[in-house]
Amino acid sequence: MAEVTFIGLGNMGLPMALNLLKAGHSVTGFDLAKDQVKILVDAGGKSTEDINYTIQTTDVVISMLPSGKIVKSVYLGDQGIIENAPDNLLLIDSSTIDVETARDVAKNAISKNLHIVDAPVSGGVGGAQAGTLTFMVGGENSAFDRAKEFLDIMGGNIIYAGLSGNGQAAKICNNMLLGISMIGTAEAFNLAENLGLNAQTFFDISSTASGQCWSMTSYCPVPGPVPSSPANNNYEPGFASALMLKDLRLSQEAARMTSSSTPLGANATSIYEEIEKLGHDGIDFSGVIKLLQNKLK
Ligand code: NAD
Repeated sequence: MAEVTFIGLGNMGLPMALNLLKAGHSVTGFDLAKDQVKILVDAGGKSTEDINYTIQTTDVVISMLPSGKIVKSVYLGDQGIIENAPDNLLLIDSSTIDVETARDVAKNAISKNLHIVDAPVSGGVGGAQAGTLTFMVGGENSAFDRAKEFLDIMGGNIIYAGLSGNGQAAKICNNMLLGISMIGTAEAFNLAENLGLNAQTFFDISSTASGQCWSMTSYCPVPGPVPSSPANNNYEPGFASALMLKDLRLSQEAARMTSSSTPLGANATSIYEEIEKLGHDGIDFSGVIKLLQNKLK
């Protein structure tokens, strides 16, 4: 049994922490939202108000936070973890953040003899609850080897992506592709309908032809062909458009930094920004089809 300190018990972090608890680890949670901490404590976990005290006797710190700015303040701020951590402490940041911040935090951690991985996830709240998340992991091999035992409990697929920041790079590139492919799939279904082609018929053809992709076969943006897709549930998320936009913006920041040409990534970002401007960014990202149909007001 290990002592785990878990920071950020939101939609994702709480079920991840609960799975560690169920696996027999001792989990101490910290979140600015006390209600979330209470759920962990009620399930048999512990709470802390003083992270720097708690980490003196913990085996691993795991964080699941909203943004790079917050991750930076938690790890590198005045009262940050890195300054106060005991030698060899293992740090796992599973937040989705920019590559630059992930590498900056890692550089500082390594210089203080800490082990660190960036380990963002794919799989959403359902995957977090089921313990089937995919983890994309960046960091030194020795840190990955230590982290794997914990990631295995929270995930079904743990993939080593290379040195620090590479987990975030994989996540950002994957989600840029996902945003683009969802918009492409939505455009194709709209055009098919406008040409008089039935959505199910188009699905039957395209899902077995060269237009096939995950956005079509697992997350189809029209109701009907894929019963589990959010389109059948009034576009309730799922994966909210706001989170897709966050990841697309990270991709565009990364593209600028590396002078990479991503014209479709840029376009996808503007399209999801349109949903945000209209005040509908709480809908699932497959709801972009409604924007294209001019049905979001
Ligand atoms: P969330 O907003 O539900 O949870 C974030 C939690 O962090 C909140 O409970 C908040 O109170 C807490 N927090 C904020 N600042 C803090 C601080 N300084 N110290 C301690 N706690 C603090 O977000 P989420 O949906 O759980 O997402 C977390 C991360 O996972 C994000 O980076 C997101 O992009 C990523 N992610 C989310 C999903 C998803 O489907 N929700 C999927 C993949 C990746």
